[in-house]
Amino acid sequence: MTSTLRAVARHLLPEQPYFRLLRATKRMYYAGTARQCPVCGGGFRRFLPAGLDLPLFREKNIVGGGRAPEVVCPGCWSLNRERLLLLYLRAKTRIFAGPTTLLHIAPEPGLSKILSRTPTIRYVSTDLGRGNVMVRSDVTQLPIRDQSCDAVICCHVLEHVIDDVAGMREICRVLRPGGWAILQVPIALSEAQTLEDLSVTSPEGRERLYGQSDHVRLYGRDYRDRLEAAGFRVELYRYGSDLGRDALARHGVLADEDIHICYRDVGAPQ
Ligand SMILES: [Zn+2]
Repeated sequence: MTSTLRAVARHLLPEQPYFRLLRATKRMYYAGTARQCPVCGGGFRRFLPAGLDLPLFREKNIVGGGRAPEVVCPGCWSLNRERLLLLYLRAKTRIFAGPTTLLHIAPEPGLSKILSRTPTIRYVSTDLGRGNVMVRSDVTQLPIRDQSCDAVICCHVLEHVIDDVAGMREICRVLRPGGWAILQVPIALSEAQTLEDLSVTSPEGRERLYGQSDHVRLYGRDYRDRLEAAGFRVELYRYGSDLGRDALARHGVLADEDIHICYRDVGAPQ
């Protein structure tokens, strides 16, 4: 859709129909076979670029942030990290095979649709700000019983939370012993220590320090230590590198994104 057509459509249509039209147009324009989205099942010529182009992302080698050429699916607008997560969940977990109580925090729309419609999954979604979730809550104070979830998915949330350790502990609390959580955040691979200055509160200052105006820290390679201090046993799995070059390109996912699988072990101290 050209910018002129976009302007006319925006002027003529209310927001929802406008976005539906924009999506349908992009889906048709980018239709093809070189790329395949695991979230919507669509075939495309390519995925779409997205992200901020700041020097910080390159200087600090931040995985899960910055501008990249193939990020967004033209069919469902899923992001590369959402596609990687779905591929992982399908291939490496049993949530699609057996009964699973799953809490999805700040749910990605495409993934949420799939998980909530899966018969084996008792699905609960929650978010602090959005209205289209089942429970409105803060990750540091989840209105959910102790040890009632088999699994939790919470991606790109903790970097927004002032007391992230309280959020990690809260997720650990609601997991049953033996349960697991996937807790993804942007990580600066060049940094051993997490960069956090709580005296910086302005959007400009946060963007300069962390790469995004609503982030309150930039995690370093010690992210795993923070998770373990909150009570988890953590395994890192660079699943993208297992997929091979062809599948990486076809699904538009990153090779160097570690999936943080956080277990609440049976008998772990709480
Ligand atoms: Zn898609």
